[in-house]
Amino acid sequence: MAFYASVSFGKDSLAMLLLLLEKKMPLDEVIFYNSGMEFQAIYDIRDQMKPVLEQRGVRFTEVRPDAPFLYNMLERPVDSKKNGFHLGYGWCGGPCRWGTKIKTRSLDKLALDAEVHYVGIAVDETKRLEKLEAPKFSPLAEAGMTEADCLAFCYDRGFFWEENGVRLYDILDRVSCWCCKNKNRKELKNIYQFLPQYWERLKELQSHIPMPMKPYSRKGVPYGNVFDLEWVFEREIQEELCGAAPKKERRRREQSR
Ligand code: SF4
Repeated sequence: MAFYASVSFGKDSLAMLLLLLEKKMPLDEVIFYNSGMEFQAIYDIRDQMKPVLEQRGVRFTEVRPDAPFLYNMLERPVDSKKNGFHLGYGWCGGPCRWGTKIKTRSLDKLALDAEVHYVGIAVDETKRLEKLEAPKFSPLAEAGMTEADCLAFCYDRGFFWEENGVRLYDILDRVSCWCCKNKNRKELKNIYQFLPQYWERLKELQSHIPMPMKPYSRKGVPYGNVFDLEWVFEREIQEELCGAAPKKERRRREQSR
């Protein structure tokens, strides 16, 4: 019989962990699934929390997938009905969330003897909560904490997920794998603008994956691989800069009258 917590060190599960510790709720083991594709800020917070857990006598277990994420993405031989024989599952996200399946399977296997398996689901994630079954339990829902509350709770305790001087939750809706196909256009543009080190890695991945990361279309013309996106984002940013300059100048002149 044991009390486990699955913690990804994103805002919800970190808030849950901090809450469990603050309320001195029973907790034997924290399980972190390391896909190998997390943002550095996630690894930094993991490293900050490990000594705290050790001090409290809570075991910390880090799980990795059986095969590296990049092997599954780019090299694993796949024979599918739809696309025939090819190498690698390609982008993970949307209907093809192969990484999530591997993650859920690994975490559930580890917590098989759990009396309680804490999961970081906020009270406003109603669809996920509806599917929750014992021994899984959400302390956040119990405490009435929304996703926004979770972020505020973590900020209040000094966790900011900062990279390049930017708080990741200011520019991303979710701090999940940096290569996630579920990232929306706004998030991708922010990665291009503020986190160039990840953008370069996305381009590297795209150069090995025939399928575009985000199949968009602009004025009827399809685009969506990472290189197309870069071209479009760069033009938009330049337009925004050119458009902003005269406005700024006008305002300056008005103020000096
Ligand atoms: S966060 Fe995205 S890329 Fe990572 S496992 Fe989940 S669906 Fe896949």
